[in-house]
Amino acid sequence: MKRRTKIVATLGPATDAGDELERLLQAGTDVVRINFSHGDPESQKARVEKVRELSSALGIEVAVMADLRGPKIRVEHFSDNWVELEADQPFTLHATEDPPPGDISGVGVTYLNLPADVRVGSELLLDDGLIAMEVESVEGSRIHCRVTTPGRLYSRKGLNLRGGGLSVPGISPEDEADIRRAAEWDVDYLAVSFPRNAGDIQQARKLMQNAGGQAGIVAKIERAEALDHLESIIDASDGVLVARGDLGVEIGEAELPAIQKRIIRTSLNQNRAVITATQMMQSMVESPIPTRAEVLDVANAVIDGTDAVMLSAETAVGRHPVRVIEAMERICAGAERHMEQSVPEQQLNVRFERIDQAIAMAAMFTAAHVSIQAIIALTESGSTAQWLSRVRTAVPIFALSPNRKSLRKMRLFRNVYPLKFEHSEVTNSQLEQAAVSRVAEYGAIGDGDRVLVTLGDVTGLMGGTNTLKLLQVGPDGRPSRQAELQYQ
Ligand code: PGA
Ligand code: MN
Repeated sequence: MKRRTKIVATLGPATDAGDELERLLQAGTDVVRINFSHGDPESQKARVEKVRELSSALGIEVAVMADLRGPKIRVEHFSDNWVELEADQPFTLHATEDPPPGDISGVGVTYLNLPADVRVGSELLLDDGLIAMEVESVEGSRIHCRVTTPGRLYSRKGLNLRGGGLSVPGISPEDEADIRRAAEWDVDYLAVSFPRNAGDIQQARKLMQNAGGQAGIVAKIERAEALDHLESIIDASDGVLVARGDLGVEIGEAELPAIQKRIIRTSLNQNRAVITATQMMQSMVESPIPTRAEVLDVANAVIDGTDAVMLSAETAVGRHPVRVIEAMERICAGAERHMEQSVPEQQLNVRFERIDQAIAMAAMFTAAHVSIQAIIALTESGSTAQWLSRVRTAVPIFALSPNRKSLRKMRLFRNVYPLKFEHSEVTNSQLEQAAVSRVAEYGAIGDGDRVLVTLGDVTGLMGGTNTLKLLQVGPDGRPSRQAELQYQ
């Protein structure tokens, strides 16, 4: 097994070119991200269709994650697309429906309530903090500022308030339309941008369900306020994304390392998948190799316990989309070689609430005390695989399911290798043998290996896992029954 940590790659113009997308999937991309913040819905739809087509042709199931724009505040257009802002110059933000065209004296903003949310001395950050300005006075819909960090400001760049506290609603009308699109395209995950609290996540889930979609909901933690409700937001979500870009701007970059660790730890404790994102391999937008700092950043996220690492501009608009996947793969595998098993601390002293969860934890306890070559989970919904993978171990987890949607979703879980398996084609008494043979055919286990199998006594039932078996593989790739654990 080459790597356990999963890779999320954002699609964009760079992956539209030639056979880049096919190469990206073959290079091992686990989840592709469709970003509603860029491009039009038609081009995003075309990308999803191409991913599904290639998946069928190549026999590779990948998950699709659609990422909502969210209520991100942006500056409006400049007449010349950009202005060069000088230090200490005045600059006015116009929070009106019909702002004057942007120029060196000022520009419109998309959030009309902004004047009420700032005060004299507030620090506004533009384009992920590349440019900063301080509020000097507020006059009706006009916010007069002075530039403190100069630079070139382009049309439609993002705007954040240092310290957070902007009262923008969690899900915009545009997001609602995008959720309906995402449901229609049958995406596997929906990433919710800028949620303030669990209510925003619940609202997104409801909209997704009403639109007929079944996507897992991923909460992007990118506002200062979200950190005050971290546990409840995670509880309401299926996955979590450490959105270091916007978060770093709001809370200050020095807080990021500790917050990243806290979000990852909390997600694992609450049985949720977690993605670490933004600028992980940023220099590879141009460069064919990562910087040493980037190597260490990716490796440290792996050591922190993240399920997946994410690429944004590196694959969407970068010069080397495939090379960056390959480099990330090497870094993840390298970091994993030096890790030990770790059980999320809170799970050591809890009462399990579900039978399948209890079986999953029993499997991981056993795996830590017997030399085991693989864990095989016969799972309908994928939830057993998710629980198994919350424990960080070197033993690969093969998740066997007939359900394509479950197979795709499970690609996000660290150390889980989804394999298609039609349990309806074998009788109950042959089930575990067929499962072991399936993994043996895949080449992951062979004669003399020991495996743990989790399954339900009624197959095809969601959440029906209630059985754990320890089997030894015989020379014919079939399980044999022995009482003694012989170590070679
Ligand atoms: P974005 O989110 O790429 O959609 O802005 C990630 C982040 O803010 O880090
Ligand atoms: Mn963001």
